[in-house]
Amino acid sequence: MAVQTSATKANSASIDHARCKAAAKAGCEGVDVEVARFANMSAKYMHATPSPTSHLQPAKRIAIIGAGWAGLAAAVRAVQTGHSVTVFEASRSLGGRARAVEVTLPNGESITLDNGQHVLLGAYRETLDVMQTVGVDLNAVLTRLPISLRTFQTQRWRFMDHLSLVRTLAEWLLQGFSCPEGITVMALSQKASKRVIADLIEPLCLSALNTAPAEASGRVFLRVLKDAFTSKSYVWKGDRYVSSDMLIPEIDLGRVFPSHTGSWLQARGSAVRLGTRVASLQPLQNEFDHVVIATSPWEAARLLRDLAPDWAASVDALAYRAIATVYAQAPADFELAKPMLALPSDAQNPAQFVFARREAKGLLAFVVSDAKGERADLERLVLVQGEARLGVALQPVSTIVEKRATFACTTQMKRPAKLALAGLSVVGDYVEGPYPSTIEGAVLSTLQT
Ligand SMILES: Cc1cc2nc3c(=O)[nH]c(=O)nc-3n(C[C@H](O)[C@H](O)[C@H](O)COP(=O)(O)OP(=O)(O)OC[C@H]3O[C@@H](n4cnc5c(N)ncnc54)[C@H](O)[C@@H]3O)c2cc1C
Repeated sequence: MAVQTSATKANSASIDHARCKAAAKAGCEGVDVEVARFANMSAKYMHATPSPTSHLQPAKRIAIIGAGWAGLAAAVRAVQTGHSVTVFEASRSLGGRARAVEVTLPNGESITLDNGQHVLLGAYRETLDVMQTVGVDLNAVLTRLPISLRTFQTQRWRFMDHLSLVRTLAEWLLQGFSCPEGITVMALSQKASKRVIADLIEPLCLSALNTAPAEASGRVFLRVLKDAFTSKSYVWKGDRYVSSDMLIPEIDLGRVFPSHTGSWLQARGSAVRLGTRVASLQPLQNEFDHVVIATSPWEAARLLRDLAPDWAASVDALAYRAIATVYAQAPADFELAKPMLALPSDAQNPAQFVFARREAKGLLAFVVSDAKGERADLERLVLVQGEARLGVALQPVSTIVEKRATFACTTQMKRPAKLALAGLSVVGDYVEGPYPSTIEGAVLSTLQT
């Protein structure tokens, strides 16, 4: 039997025990015996994988198309439940939109950065769980930045600003952090002062939903706030993350989760085929018992156009928003006061945040959510903004604009339903669920698959 790392023992034991219990409730034959057996066994052999649910169902051959975080999480769960997995990934690297890329610094040195600067939250429970399952040491790869008002304030607030924030939060709390469909974030924020909107609500909304408050879904925004500010801390290995903690990757995203997962899967006999774009489903359906489509939404729509035309049409109706990451080099002795700083932003100053990168001294990543305009213009504006705000000279390193970084999380959006046809399922950050287009949304979508 393959051996799991100690980090994952307690987790997988309790998750799988819970699953067994759920299955027992549903009346599966012989499951009670299995539950009792597993309860005993888990105390003794918590290192073991695959999980006990593998005793309950015959192992299936599963094809997973796409190795973004959703596809990788689905692969881990499938292996944990005793199935044999083959992952097909069109590109040459794992991680999808949250992947590593090679970049050349002004001094000619080649380094590994990200396709786009990412931040996780302490509330990303499913993501943190699956990272631990594959043996990621969370403390080694993520810097915790407790969130406070100061994280966002870019100007002095007056008493009336604080009062307006208290009123706004009290209203949201009384509503149970929920509101009817169709209400925008801006409409929810009528009691907030202009400063509170500019300093706090707009950057929070842009970073969580990548959609401007005037069109962003108030319902999804409140759900994210609810999870971040009212849910229990994430406790692991005797340590804990408060749900609202921002978790900033210390290293490139590829090494935060995808490469660990690739090795974890291969060590358990799974195949990971990079550079293999799946052109149509039929050959995989002939070869495998089950196919999981974990591609970008537009590719899923293409693959399913004949089998599920209405569903494909609902994907076609999604709109997307861009994110630009401008990597720039400050003098080597320059240090940001914190790992992440909020920046006052408007059309001429498009970056909302700047992050210190660890890969080289003085290396910075400026993030423009809901980015508009051309790459060269964005880069020029951000460099001027950064130099003025930080008071240092900046050299451009690389600007990456992901045009379809996330779906537009507007009040008009209709999320494509969770599609489950015989022998086929679809996962990804865009599939119906409580979260906006995020890593946690992607991983959450794999839960019922
Ligand atoms: C610049 C940027 C910044 C972001 N910032 C954040 C952030 O701070 N926090 C956060 O939580 N989220 C953030 N996101 C969103 C997050 O990256 C995504 O929600 C998440 O990565 C989506 O994962 P996924 O697995 O659903 O899809 P993808 O990552 O899109 O994965 C799909 C995979 O399928 C592959 N594929 C497609 N078609 C085929 C085919 N036919 N055959 C084989 N393979 C195929 C693709 O190559 C890709 O690897 C950001 C996104 C971007 C682009």
